[in-house]
Amino acid sequence: MAATDNKKSRREFIADGIRTGGLIIASGAIGALAASSHAEDTVWQIDPYKCTNCGLCATSCVLDQSAVKCMHAFAMCGYCNLCSGMLRPERVGNTIEAENVQCPTFAIQRSYVENPYFQYVIDENLCIGCAKCSKGCNAFGNGSLFMQIRHDRCLNCNQCSIAEVCPAQAIVRVPASKPYLLKSKIKQDG
Ligand code: SF4
Ligand code: SF4
Ligand code: SF4
Repeated sequence: MAATDNKKSRREFIADGIRTGGLIIASGAIGALAASSHAEDTVWQIDPYKCTNCGLCATSCVLDQSAVKCMHAFAMCGYCNLCSGMLRPERVGNTIEAENVQCPTFAIQRSYVENPYFQYVIDENLCIGCAKCSKGCNAFGNGSLFMQIRHDRCLNCNQCSIAEVCPAQAIVRVPASKPYLLKSKIKQDG
């Protein structure tokens, strides 16, 4: 069925860029920096091209619920019907029933755009930073799902406890004025 006039086209969705849970990245960054009690020039961030989506971000942050969340680079997404970020490889069918989805907290919301495309949005309130979705997306999809430290949550610890255990040395210091390392292209191996 063709998209109706009041539905956004796939092109319009892609033009929206990177969003998580309806939150515009720039506003999150600004709010985070304003809320921070630190005056450092740099903050911790994940280099998404180094991250191997090992899952340790979910359990290694000093916060009860990790400051790390999944983000989505919509410009890279294929808007796939069968999303490898959302669906488990060992699923029983191509449905979004609980037993078939990667996300343990059902933070990934799927909505129809136009045949055969679907949009996937992360609800940050539910995301625990487990990286199951980004691992699936990077392994079998375009890699448009990726992990970032959210600065409306991060305490900017002197030594990030995730950095101490990260097997990929993916946690780096970045300028506080540009606290996010966003994905814009598929990783080239080698
Ligand atoms: S610990 Fe490192 S490799 Fe593992 S998910 Fe976090 S940033 Fe990625
Ligand atoms: S699979 Fe993990 S990282 Fe991805 S949205 Fe769900 S909780 Fe967040
Ligand atoms: S700096 Fe601290 S609060 Fe921020 S992600 Fe690392 S451990 Fe968590």
